[in-house]
Amino acid sequence: MQLKLRIAGMTEESVVDGPGIRFVVYGQGCLHACPGCHNPETQDLEGGSLVSPEEIAKKIEKNPLLDGVTYSGGEPFLQAEAFAQLAEIVKPWGLNLVIYTGYTFEFLLNKSRKDLSCYKLLKSTDLLIDGPYLQEKRDIKLLYRGSYNQRIINIPRTLSSGALCLWQDTTALPLE
Ligand code: SF4
Repeated sequence: MQLKLRIAGMTEESVVDGPGIRFVVYGQGCLHACPGCHNPETQDLEGGSLVSPEEIAKKIEKNPLLDGVTYSGGEPFLQAEAFAQLAEIVKPWGLNLVIYTGYTFEFLLNKSRKDLSCYKLLKSTDLLIDGPYLQEKRDIKLLYRGSYNQRIINIPRTLSSGALCLWQDTTALPLE
């Protein structure tokens, strides 16, 4: 059976969801229930609409100006298999992948030891913006994040070095 993604929507060009010009896919469904959630309508696990990774990829392919793709939410790791499949199609086109997740990197790394879909999605990620949105840690000056507990993690460097490598706000584009 063909995999479908349940999505809340898409933004075809964004400059606020990671470095450069990005195509954003908003996953539908989230269990974190952060007070002050910026997208509460994306929490319902039965909401949104169903679309195949191939259909989304066709839209992405049409824009030669894109630097990358961002998965936001909702919680992308609730649909790890289908999001990993979309990454498998678009990353060979030279696009980098930013993922927003309410889970911490440490949680996902541990989960990926026994969950192949989670492993595939984490391994496809270039920058992971992790952790729940915490209202008491909100800071509107933060780049790409809502609260300062959230980290921007360089996943390829972290996985290859075995040490957590943060992406510096001052790092020049493109991604390392
Ligand atoms: S993780 Fe994001 S989408 Fe989910 S409840 Fe928290 S702020 Fe909302």
